[in-house]
Amino acid sequence: MTPALTPALFINGQRCMAENNAMFERRNPLDEELASLAPAASVADMQRAVECAAAAFESWRDVGPGARRALLLDAAERLEARCADFVSAMARETGASAQWAEFNVHLGAGLLREAAALTTQVSGEVIPSDVPGNLALAVRQPAGVVLGIAPWNAPVILGVRAIATPLACGNCVILKGSELSPATHGLIVDALNDAGFAPGVVNFVTNAPEDAAQIVEAAIAHPAVRRVNFTGSTGVGKIIAQTCARYLKPAVLELGGKAPLLVLDDADFDTAVNCAIFGAFANSGQICMSTERIIVDESIADAFVERFARRAGELPCRDPREGPTVLGAVADSRCVERCNALIDDALAKGARLVTGGKSHSALMAATVLDGITPDMQIYHEEAFGPVKGIVRVSGEAQAIACANDNAFGLSSAVFSRDTARAWRVAQRLQSGICHINGPTVHDEPQMPFGGVKASGYGRFGGQAGIQEFTDLRWITLQTTPRPMPF
Ligand code: NAD
Repeated sequence: MTPALTPALFINGQRCMAENNAMFERRNPLDEELASLAPAASVADMQRAVECAAAAFESWRDVGPGARRALLLDAAERLEARCADFVSAMARETGASAQWAEFNVHLGAGLLREAAALTTQVSGEVIPSDVPGNLALAVRQPAGVVLGIAPWNAPVILGVRAIATPLACGNCVILKGSELSPATHGLIVDALNDAGFAPGVVNFVTNAPEDAAQIVEAAIAHPAVRRVNFTGSTGVGKIIAQTCARYLKPAVLELGGKAPLLVLDDADFDTAVNCAIFGAFANSGQICMSTERIIVDESIADAFVERFARRAGELPCRDPREGPTVLGAVADSRCVERCNALIDDALAKGARLVTGGKSHSALMAATVLDGITPDMQIYHEEAFGPVKGIVRVSGEAQAIACANDNAFGLSSAVFSRDTARAWRVAQRLQSGICHINGPTVHDEPQMPFGGVKASGYGRFGGQAGIQEFTDLRWITLQTTPRPMPF
């Protein structure tokens, strides 16, 4: 048996165990093999991480942009150098394919490099003052300690995203790892540590699932924590939002999705099918931007469904520890149960299974259901697995109405050869992100990434990220004597 991975907490520049040496296990979703044994932090551990980060902030805030940039660039190199470790950890902890793990490392390094470039973009402006001799500045300053909470599904991308821009802006960070991928998240922190950030600037906490609520609340409640970012489900996102509201802490919430992909009657067929296949089944559909609803014009639906289902049926699906695959194992039995229930519900209400089907293990084949209607659960709910529904509509107006008939609003896509028409449609879609003639799954470090409606609020990426993780202050300098009224 392969020995378990053993990530450590990382507080004040030291790898350490949790108080009382408490641990929790993460097992492989396919065969229950012990994947990792990680520290189960207590509230006191989290508070210590916050206090060390707050102490480190006093000097880190004054480190110049060139030095911050050099550290982030070095961290990017070190992250890439550990690619093989990430591939192995992700296969063991979450059943992810090597292709997905490598993409994670590539984009994670890109996020660090983009953050490095942002260090010189944390700027301000001079604003004309009505007071003679008064120099008035709007200045962006780091906020303080930032808590980043990242999920397991794109663990390198989302773990790095939770801390990279905050660090670039001069904040100190605490990454709270996922209970499903503690060792994968720990590898990110190892790469940053090797780059040489000063003790306390980067901290890492893992916790047992049953302790998540109290540890997260303890961090949010701590006066030194000045920003929170959370990537995860809408249900937990609402709890985080309520907790942040109680303590008046601004939050960036990147939550669930149910991305629609609209295939209009004049779409380029090959492009639409290829993008739909990739967007629907990358990482077995466990991506927030995953194509969840394929909305096809009735006039071309038969041909589209036939081609899409054939391609989906050909996608390889196997244990990623045994070699290359497109679909690996899904992350846990909850995903299998949720997807099986969605299939049962849709079939009972008249949908047609065109490929795949229910599964009895974490290896789930690409599954396509045609004839999805609003009375079916899969029409509304995030599957977050490789089960996809096709909704047939008549005309552009129905396609838009169907796309917007959903609580979520993260990503979307529209396919048409008439790009002016597609642009008009894109403007009316209720989503933070929309791609014309491209897949719903698309992320680049410099883009404003985020959702509307139940997909959350706030934006990572580029200038938008700087605004989230800095305070905009008004500072004046009176250069001449200023008469007072009394
Ligand atoms: P999750 O919400 O179940 O868990 C995320 C985190 O919440 C974990 O770290 C956990 O410790 C913490 N948590 C759980 N209960 C808590 C509580 N009561 N109080 C405070 N914290 C608590 O999410 P998940 O299953 O790990 O991730 C999947 C979800 O994430 C999907 O819905 C997916 O769409 C979404 N997601 C969104 C994005 C995005 O950028 N919008 C990206 C990836 C995933």
